[in-house]
Amino acid sequence: MITLRKNIAAMDRYVPGFQPEETGWIKLNTNENPYPPSPKVVEAIQAELVNGGENLRKYPDAGSKEARRVAAELYGVDPSWVIMANGSDELLNNLIRAFADAGDEVGFVHPSYSYYSTLAHIQGAKVVTFGLTADTKIADFPDSYRGKVFFLTSPNAPLGLGFDNTYISELADRCRGVLVVDEAYVDFTNTSAMELVKKHENIVVTRTFSKSYSLAGMRLGLAVARPEVIAALDKIRDHYHLDRLALVAAAAALKDQPYLRSTVAKICATRDWFSAELRQRGYHVHPSQTNYIFAEAPDGDGKRIYDTLFAHKILVRYFSDPLLASGTRISMGTREEMEKTLAVLSELD
Ligand SMILES: *Cc1c(COP(=O)(O)O)cnc(C)c1O
Repeated sequence: MITLRKNIAAMDRYVPGFQPEETGWIKLNTNENPYPPSPKVVEAIQAELVNGGENLRKYPDAGSKEARRVAAELYGVDPSWVIMANGSDELLNNLIRAFADAGDEVGFVHPSYSYYSTLAHIQGAKVVTFGLTADTKIADFPDSYRGKVFFLTSPNAPLGLGFDNTYISELADRCRGVLVVDEAYVDFTNTSAMELVKKHENIVVTRTFSKSYSLAGMRLGLAVARPEVIAALDKIRDHYHLDRLALVAAAAALKDQPYLRSTVAKICATRDWFSAELRQRGYHVHPSQTNYIFAEAPDGDGKRIYDTLFAHKILVRYFSDPLLASGTRISMGTREEMEKTLAVLSELD
């Protein structure tokens, strides 16, 4: 008889957003970028595939040296402060494994990214969630928080708002464990906690290439933290966690900041236009600093928005959680895709 660890038997798996196999869908449910990655990324991948893919015979650089060098230069830190990852999900997982034992507490804001919970349960850690106050603070956060890891999604998912650095600094002082600032969407706003890493030894900033860099399909992320933290994460990762194509893609993407800025600007313009249009139609749209909006229906029925759009082959994200059921999260597509979405929503009364 096979017996699983108790916490594995008891836990639910994380269910990612639906990825339809047939074409013809407008996909606004997983916050992917509607534009392709930088042409320099494609060139770098093609260059890595020269001579019939001859390079693929050999293992990749286990230390991700070039990608880390480029990231370190961009963020103004030494490469020993940077780790690359197979998606930022890998970092979230390894942060829990490095800092929280079975039975230790892992905390985060609810609502935010529910995958933190899955990862904590795998480790057998205890999950504690905190609500948000009306003025975007964490409700009832202790003066001295004893959890080993606290995840702060900033800007928040799925609501889209960011926490300011003064407040993040204060939280870091109140955390006895590690404060992970998950900046998956930070490129769509103009603040970042990156500079706080030098002031607070317990802050870890994680980033993903899946949203702003249009590379969800490559699985790339990175973290910036003090070298002791990076060394711990380095110790427990798979040694060849990034393949050769991902490594060259990461370096090329980070180097092409003008391309990043141009696609981000287009998405933010679409977001602001789309939000204003929905507000005119009676929707409550949360102010967003990301590439998605959370829109509450005039009648408070998020499922009806989801179902109506679904019937028109437009996919958005609906969360049945009572805190979120009044609306849907809508990722920003191209202007054309959002015009089609708006046309469908305009007919809903
Ligand atoms: C998308 C997302 C991630 C995961 O990023 P990957 O690099 O694709 O693993 C992590 N955190 C938040 C809040 C996200 O929205």
